[in-house]
Amino acid sequence: MKIAAFELDGRQALGRVEGDEVVILREGNAGEALLSLIEGKESGDGNGKRVSLSAVKLLPPTVSRRSAVICVGKNYQAHAKEFFGSGFDSSAKEEVPSEAVIFAKAGSCLVGEGDDVRASLDPTATVDYEGELAIVIGKTANRVSKENAFDVIFGYTICNDVTSRELQKRHNQWLVGKSLDTFGPLGPWIVTADEIGDVGELELVTRINGEVRQQARVADLIFDIPTLIETLTATMTLQAGDIIATGTPAGVGIGFQPPKYLKPGDRMEVSISGIGTLTNPVV
Ligand code: MG
Repeated sequence: MKIAAFELDGRQALGRVEGDEVVILREGNAGEALLSLIEGKESGDGNGKRVSLSAVKLLPPTVSRRSAVICVGKNYQAHAKEFFGSGFDSSAKEEVPSEAVIFAKAGSCLVGEGDDVRASLDPTATVDYEGELAIVIGKTANRVSKENAFDVIFGYTICNDVTSRELQKRHNQWLVGKSLDTFGPLGPWIVTADEIGDVGELELVTRINGEVRQQARVADLIFDIPTLIETLTATMTLQAGDIIATGTPAGVGIGFQPPKYLKPGDRMEVSISGIGTLTNPVV
């Protein structure tokens, strides 16, 4: 199932995407409806109403914008090297991390498919894109072993971990540089895990103004999905609806010499096979 949170005529709803239509599952608060669906309290059958996908305004498919997104840094070999080489990683002692680098991105910055990313909010004009596969957790998860990791995953979506490189560096901890308002495109929808098959086979491509900048397979993650779930749940409890952005591959703007930062008028597209494309204009 492809699960979309959206607005129609100014009212929120949750739906199931079928081709170019959306079958409405529940009208009203989309986050609450999504949590009910994830927890199995709501079927995916729908109420019989269908609307055209083009008629709805897609929202970030999240249970709550009050929850932070858990993010993984430097989780593809070539990206870890390009980021280290850029000199922007003020805390780094090694090119490729020996333990997963975990940080948070404030939920308040999340936006949906098609929404503007306001680069003008970054006073340092060092805005960069990071296309990433995101995991949506399906149940309360504590001390989950690698072997059982896929049991706690509801589905997958796409995150663009938009970053102010200068603020990321200036504040040492990454929260500020990662959480500017609108710097969290998420979507366009969640694809449930049963439809994905082998997640390692998915391919991610990021295009800026149509030019391919990032291209990688999920199988190239340094810390794979079972390892991330085992590592996180060893000491913290994940909840249904929590989102984990798994890291970005090589090809970010900071990796070029000189850096290719985003500017108003640019168009970002992050595509993942089996999920879709997350498109956001930069303003
Ligand atoms: Mg990232």
